[in-house]
Amino acid sequence: MSMDYYREGDPVADTKAPDGPIAERWERRRFSGRLVNPANRRKLRVIVVGTGLAGASAAATLGELGYRVANYCFQDSPRRAHSIAAQGGINAAKNYRNDGDSVHRLFYDTVKGGDFRSRESNVHRLAEVSTEIIDQCVAQGVPFAREYGGLLDNRSFGGAQVSRTFYARGQTGQQLLLGAYQALERQVAAGTVEMHTRHEMLELIIVEGRARGIVVRDLVTGEITTEIADAVVLATGGYGNVFFLSTNAKGCNVTASWRAHRQGAYFANPCYTQIHPTCIPQSGDHQSKLTLMSESLRNDGRVWVPKAHGDDREPGDIPEDERDYYLERRYPAFGNLVPRDIASRAAKAVCDEGRGVGPGGLGVYLDFADAIARLGRDAVAAKYGNLFDMYKRITGENPYERPMRIYPAVHYTMGGLWVDYDLQSNIPGLFVTGEANFSDHGANRLGASALMQGLSDGYFVLPNTISDYLADGPFEAVAEDHEAVAAARRDVEDRIAFFLGNDGDRSVDSFHRELGKIMWEYCGMERTDEGLRKAIGLIRDLKDEFYKRVKVTGKAAELNQQLEKAGRVADFFELGELMCIDALHRTESCGGHFRAESQTEDGEALRDDERFSYVAAWEFTEEAPVLHKEALEFEYVKPTQRSYK
Ligand SMILES: Cc1cc2nc3c(=O)[nH]c(=O)nc-3n(C[C@H](O)[C@H](O)[C@H](O)COP(=O)(O)OP(=O)(O)OC[C@H]3O[C@@H](n4cnc5c(N)ncnc54)[C@H](O)[C@@H]3O)c2cc1C
Repeated sequence: MSMDYYREGDPVADTKAPDGPIAERWERRRFSGRLVNPANRRKLRVIVVGTGLAGASAAATLGELGYRVANYCFQDSPRRAHSIAAQGGINAAKNYRNDGDSVHRLFYDTVKGGDFRSRESNVHRLAEVSTEIIDQCVAQGVPFAREYGGLLDNRSFGGAQVSRTFYARGQTGQQLLLGAYQALERQVAAGTVEMHTRHEMLELIIVEGRARGIVVRDLVTGEITTEIADAVVLATGGYGNVFFLSTNAKGCNVTASWRAHRQGAYFANPCYTQIHPTCIPQSGDHQSKLTLMSESLRNDGRVWVPKAHGDDREPGDIPEDERDYYLERRYPAFGNLVPRDIASRAAKAVCDEGRGVGPGGLGVYLDFADAIARLGRDAVAAKYGNLFDMYKRITGENPYERPMRIYPAVHYTMGGLWVDYDLQSNIPGLFVTGEANFSDHGANRLGASALMQGLSDGYFVLPNTISDYLADGPFEAVAEDHEAVAAARRDVEDRIAFFLGNDGDRSVDSFHRELGKIMWEYCGMERTDEGLRKAIGLIRDLKDEFYKRVKVTGKAAELNQQLEKAGRVADFFELGELMCIDALHRTESCGGHFRAESQTEDGEALRDDERFSYVAAWEFTEEAPVLHKEALEFEYVKPTQRSYK
């Protein structure tokens, strides 16, 4: 591998990770971590950026504990954080179904589902805490689906043979977020949390090696202010929008994480992207957003394509024996519920063979005819009604009568800022939670586990671990005119002045769309050495052109969405390049990262444990990124070739 793309630095270690029997590690860490007594908590200030499930749960819990919290989001209400869009459900090892589930099985499924690229200690903690999350949310009044007798209902998600997914129809994220939001608003009313909506964090402030504050822009007035605290928590979500088209909300971006990365926070496994198998196929070039059809639909929907190439008959006219239920055929043990990476690649494979359906042959069927015949239309509507309505509104086709057409799309990013077991980045005082950290999902996240992780981090993990850091505080007061504060602020003002002063002729969106196409083509579902090298060159050229030709209209001191986007797209360029470098250096296939040169004879992902059993934590430098490897050890779930057959 050409070394001019990056250089290798010292390994990085998770010094907070406890050892000993895995089931005792979290308990031991909680006991060994220092506490802050209630009277002292009132003297400590914590910034939480983000009001999604990870941020709202953390801010509410820290407020309840008595810390003084400043909470930020760029939307007009905390309730509009992207978490509101989550559809299918949240996992927990409650074993209410008595179908063989346990904390250990959830732990095992998640380590295996992540293709053995996550930390055992973290994943075990997640599985343990999962059961507490459900109790917490039920106590808040989250209306999880219930069975006729009143008990909480469960369904199955990919990569599991048990039913452990709790859900509220196809609106689980919304209901969970409303629960967290109520807890948050209670603290706002109590005066422990100050809420700042429509504010965007544009820089991290580091004083004497510690994260001490942020620079924010008021998105309505354009005013730039700084906020100083004893610790900063980023719960700013994922960066799937680097691909332009994704199932993420249009506002999702990487700026908070990227600014922290530029200040020294390591970015881990940036190339691990999740491509979700069941999204509504793209309908044309005009499109700026893709829509997810929840994985829960694979509980009852059957995925198929015609057996014959180029068969363009209506689905209802294709007889049963001329259909290929390829997931059931190839993976009989898990069938339609194989994990996302596997289902996505299988869909791409049948479309590449010329057996795809719909416009451009980029689609496969997800068919509910059997489920409707077996359960009745009302029962299917009760489980998935809002998803069916959404599909109908977007495509004009009725999924009760005609199979849905689906195709894989970018959905989630497993990579993110590197954190230790305490969720602290390598910058003291900077904590990262939820999708923004690289966390617990390895190279592929199992469905219904992002909500679990975000709430685990926010309600249970961070509030316990951050006290070990805050026990050394309050830290020395930092004045507004401190050199570090003034420099961070100047950086933000200079960037804004550059964009507004640039004499360009091309819109921000046109650059973003082009960047997204490069990322999807070369760093999407399948990657090759040649393609990634090409992509790095294309991204660098496009970035140069962006700085020469981008046109941002409007002024600084007003609501200016062009300006907001320009800053975000500038950061996406740098991130996109790092993603390609990360993907290029990892010459193995694993999980969501499929490297064409590394596959088994039957086309499955082929890992290279000998060389790549590590987390790739990247350090920013102005020249080339520096790779720090964190070795992964497996004592409880031995890496094997994943099989769902
Ligand atoms: C369509 C869809 C369906 C999904 N369904 C499921 C599901 O059923 N089950 C599941 O487990 N997972 C699901 N996921 C994944 C899951 O929803 C997300 O991973 C999770 O909600 C992320 O939560 P978060 O709190 O980390 O971030 P988000 O909810 O994205 O919140 C980010 C917050 O950070 C704020 N923010 C970001 N940058 C800045 C900045 N610079 N300044 C100020 N504020 C900032 C935003 O305003 C927002 O408040 C789904 C994802 C999608 C796209």
